[in-house]
Amino acid sequence: MKELILIKDGEIALKGLNRRNFEDALMKNIRWRIAPLGSFEIRSAQSTIYVRPLSEEIDLDEAVERISKVFGIACFSRACIADKDMQSIQKAAVEYLKEDLESVSTFKVNAKRSDKSFPLNSPAICSQLGEYLLEQFPHLQVDVHNPELTVTVEVRDFGAYVRGGVIPGAGGIPVGTGGKAAILISGGIDSPVAAYMMAKRGVELTAIHFASPPYTSERAEEKVRQLLRRVAAYSGRIVMYTAPFSHIQEEIREKCPEELFTIIMRRMMMKISQRIAQANGCGALITGESLGQVASQTLQAIACTDAACTMPVFRPLIGMDKEEIIGISRKIDTFEISIQPYEDCCTVFTPRHPRTKPVLKFVEQAESAMDCQALIEEAVEQTKFIKIDDSFPG
Ligand code: ATP
Ligand code: MG
Repeated sequence: MKELILIKDGEIALKGLNRRNFEDALMKNIRWRIAPLGSFEIRSAQSTIYVRPLSEEIDLDEAVERISKVFGIACFSRACIADKDMQSIQKAAVEYLKEDLESVSTFKVNAKRSDKSFPLNSPAICSQLGEYLLEQFPHLQVDVHNPELTVTVEVRDFGAYVRGGVIPGAGGIPVGTGGKAAILISGGIDSPVAAYMMAKRGVELTAIHFASPPYTSERAEEKVRQLLRRVAAYSGRIVMYTAPFSHIQEEIREKCPEELFTIIMRRMMMKISQRIAQANGCGALITGESLGQVASQTLQAIACTDAACTMPVFRPLIGMDKEEIIGISRKIDTFEISIQPYEDCCTVFTPRHPRTKPVLKFVEQAESAMDCQALIEEAVEQTKFIKIDDSFPG
């Protein structure tokens, strides 16, 4: 039986004049996400996007899986394609929805007819198909108010579609419509979740990772690439920049007071990230910080970190509990990777008693013992990048 996927866009409906741009971006993102599976016809009509595979070999389960991760979709469903006559529609409904209809006790039929040349109007389609289904599945009853299953028939110019329940979409708005920002990504639990949350608000992602070889290993960097592959299933392709950080950490350790080590390190990360972000057309930085989680995430420490750069810094996890963050990381499948025990540059030199209420003036004074500008230049110059998408398993 021929199938297709029907997609309802989400918040897009609210965007008035921007609607067209949003819908174009959504269709482009859907096309990109499913292109590796084969050829599809993708078209939009009456606030529905129709995705039809153009060959029998295409794995529609995988297409559904991929579409479930595209932001900007409120809900979607699989439907079968029937000829535009009642007999075919009835036969298709029985065959296609057999399992669903057997597993419920109440249903209703919902019909939409946009092809006005079809001889029956919507109420007539509903009653004919409803009666037929009652004959075929005698255990069923019609419940128009609270049915366990709604069978929907759409008679369109280009075919009749029959479908059962709808699947919730990823929500959010299409990636690319919210500008571009750079996520500072570690191997931890939080930053991949922060990346996902901003992609959900339409932000295209670039990633920046600080590595401190030989204190941190190649395996730690591979772990970050794996995390980004999972995020890329939602955000689309991500360019990942890896900046060397060991020289900076050695300098801080040698020249700055131990209790300010973490805050100075975080400020250096922001300064370098801002440089990389600006060079790549990003309008903001993103971090996985959550207020009060660790010493460097107190209000005072965050104020000192923020003062290191002029770009806006988005911290989507700022008001969330660890449990909530872990819940999202499980949902997006990054949790099991994040908890693998590889060292991060932040854990290499951890001060015994980090200052929880740093004062900017003293932090800046302490930093001036180093040639910050030269260190930043050196790190930016030695930064490498790779492109990451989710097309290889990780
Ligand atoms: P995460 O779970 O993301 O590692 P965390 O709770 O461990 O966060 P920190 O280690 O203090 O917190 O880091 C705070 C934020 O700084 C991270 O969420 C991330 O955005 C950024 N960050 C930390 N380490 C790195 C790194 N090695 N490279 C790039 N960004 C980093
Ligand atoms: Mg961390």
